Amino acid sequence: MLLLKNVDAYTPAPAGRTDILIAGGRLVRVEADIRVPEGFCEVVEAGGVIAVPGFIDGHVHMTGGGGEGGYATRTPELLLSDAIKGGVTTIVGCLGTDGVTRSLEGLLAKARGLADEGLSTFIYTGHYSVPVQTITGSIERDLLLIDKVIGVGEVALSDHRSTQPTFDEFARVAAQSRRGGILSGKAGVVNVHMGDGLRGLSLLRRLAAETEIPVTQFLPTHINRNPTLFGEGIAWAKGGGFVDFTTSTVPQFLAEGEVKCSAGLRRMLDAGVDIGHITFTSDGQGSMPDFDAQGRLKRLDIARVTSLWVEVRDAVQQDGVALATALRVVTSNPARILKLTGKGQLVAGADADLVLLDADTLAIRGVMAGGAWLMRDGHVLAAGTFE
Ligand code: ZN
Repeated sequence: MLLLKNVDAYTPAPAGRTDILIAGGRLVRVEADIRVPEGFCEVVEAGGVIAVPGFIDGHVHMTGGGGEGGYATRTPELLLSDAIKGGVTTIVGCLGTDGVTRSLEGLLAKARGLADEGLSTFIYTGHYSVPVQTITGSIERDLLLIDKVIGVGEVALSDHRSTQPTFDEFARVAAQSRRGGILSGKAGVVNVHMGDGLRGLSLLRRLAAETEIPVTQFLPTHINRNPTLFGEGIAWAKGGGFVDFTTSTVPQFLAEGEVKCSAGLRRMLDAGVDIGHITFTSDGQGSMPDFDAQGRLKRLDIARVTSLWVEVRDAVQQDGVALATALRVVTSNPARILKLTGKGQLVAGADADLVLLDADTLAIRGVMAGGAWLMRDGHVLAAGTFE
């Protein structure tokens, strides 16, 4: 049991000076001036500190990704400390291009391992391919029978690495995910990898127009990867759909037209997009090529979970987005869209997942997950089994 006194709380809505009473891994009370008897529990004076919900990263290649430059370019698994440094307390894992040497069984095991190490974890069934490979034989069965499965993805569209599903094939994937979601009480979201292809979001628009499946069943990601797709994303979101930005990047990508997330968030808001329709994810542990000035591949970089907060912070500090607004893309929005109960909000009854920020710099100073400190006073306190 712990009482945090006098934090400047964002639930993510601004709540002002607040006390937070934590017990049994939950937030018991979140309100001003909580008094407890002397010696009742540890009391931490946290004036001058901003407290926000633990971040949700909804698209992480937690078992590694990549491999698109051959076997030597397969990226390594996520380390617990990377998540802690990024303030990420809830992760949704996914496979990527490779569904042969990476397996869903391995992804499920990794998600369970990270949960044993203190994080909250979920996974998407399937990978880039249609027909979708699953663990138990179908998307519906995975959703109904495996607690950690919350949807399907990342299914690739408009990309040279996509299996080029037809309209009917893709509609069937979405239908199965929707049915499995309804029956299991989960989101059943279809996480869609968007490539650079000229078809953009056209298949999703057709599905929305020609089937009964609502636009909210889909969460297209990498929406900031080029200006054209970004423009389509604005129209999709204004039409009621959700869009997911990818925060990991390299200077080469930005030079080629990728929209920096922080500036992109500002642009979407200015274009009239409802903030509730936007999420950020890191694409963590995916591979990113790093080119020299002549365009030659120097080496492969790895997408980082830590990029998530960097872009939210930049949106506040560089692009003038209010902290309470920017926070939503990594807290309450993904919690609502992915139906992650107890996540993404600092309210009584929620899981005790929170991040403490320096009030001046917005640097991450403390991380708590399930009521346990993973970082305190800027020091990482927990390590994975092999770190
Ligand atoms: Zn992807």
